[in-house]
Amino acid sequence: MGNIVNPKQVYRYTQLLDDINLLTSKYDSLEKRVIGYSVNHRKLIALRLGTGKKAVMLNGAHHAREWLTSALLMNMAEYYCKRHEDEEEIRKLFKEVSLWFVPMVNPDGVTLVQDGADQFHQKNELIKMNDGSVHYDGWKANIRGIDLNRQYPMDWETIDDQIRKPAPAMFKGKKPLSEPEVRSLYQFSLEHNFAFVACYHSSGEEIFWQYKSSGAVYDSAKKLAEKLAALTGYRLVEPGPNPSGGGFTDWFIMVQKRPSFTIEIGPYVGPVPVPLHYYDKIWKENKEVGLLLAKACLQN
Ligand SMILES: [Zn+2]
Repeated sequence: MGNIVNPKQVYRYTQLLDDINLLTSKYDSLEKRVIGYSVNHRKLIALRLGTGKKAVMLNGAHHAREWLTSALLMNMAEYYCKRHEDEEEIRKLFKEVSLWFVPMVNPDGVTLVQDGADQFHQKNELIKMNDGSVHYDGWKANIRGIDLNRQYPMDWETIDDQIRKPAPAMFKGKKPLSEPEVRSLYQFSLEHNFAFVACYHSSGEEIFWQYKSSGAVYDSAKKLAEKLAALTGYRLVEPGPNPSGGGFTDWFIMVQKRPSFTIEIGPYVGPVPVPLHYYDKIWKENKEVGLLLAKACLQN
C-alpha cells in the first residue's frame, strides 16, 4: 500500500490540491474546507480530521521559502488518517478532538519560490522588490511583498524592522490584517475554539512558545512546550526583553489566551528552503506532534 503524499519533492501548490483530493476521497475521516483565497486567488484549504468538539490547529508555510512545512503537514495528515483506520485508540481520540491542518497559508509565495516570477502578472513589481534578481529562493513574503507573520494585531504598531516598503521579507504592511491570507486564517481561528495551535516554520530546530503572557496561560504553555521539546529534541526559545510582535503565535497567546507554538523545522540553513535530504530527520522529530497536542486537549 503506497502513500499518496510524497513529501520528498519540491512540494507545489498543485501537488497539494491533487493530494487533498485523493486523501479526502480515500478517507471518510478527513474533510476539506476552503477558508479563503490568496491575493492571486489560490485556495487556502483547511483539512479536518475527526469530529470532536475540542479543536487543535496546525498550519504551515506562512513564509514562502518554508514550503517543506506544507509537505510535513500533508504527510502527517495521511499518517493520522491511516492510524485512524487501524487503531481503536486513535478513533476514540478523534471522536473528542478535531485536528485541523492548514498546510499552505501562502500558496502564491510558495509558487514564486519554486517556479519563479514568469507566470505572475506582478512579474515586473516582483523583480523590483527582489532588487533586480530573478532568483526567489529566499522569498518569505506573499506576492505583494508583505510578511504574513508580521500582520497579526498584537503590538503591530511597535514593530520596526526599518523596512518601509514591500520586500522579500520582513515588511509588516501598512496596517495589520491587510492581506487576505492572514485575514482568512485570523477569521478561521476566531470561528473555532482552538485549544492549541502549532505554526510550522523553518529553520533552526527550535520552538517559540511565549510572548508576554503570565499566570495560567504562561504555565500551561510552558508545560506543553516542554513536552514538545522532549518529543522533537528542539530547543525552547526564551523571548528577549522586547519581543517584536505581529506573529500568529504572539496574537493567539495574548488574545485567545491559549498556547500557540512556532516550530522551526530543520537544522539552521540560513535564508533558503530546507534541503530535502533533511526530511527523514524532520519527519522522525515531528510525526507525533499533532497527536501529542490532540491528546493534551483531553486533559484540558
Ligand atoms: Zn517562517
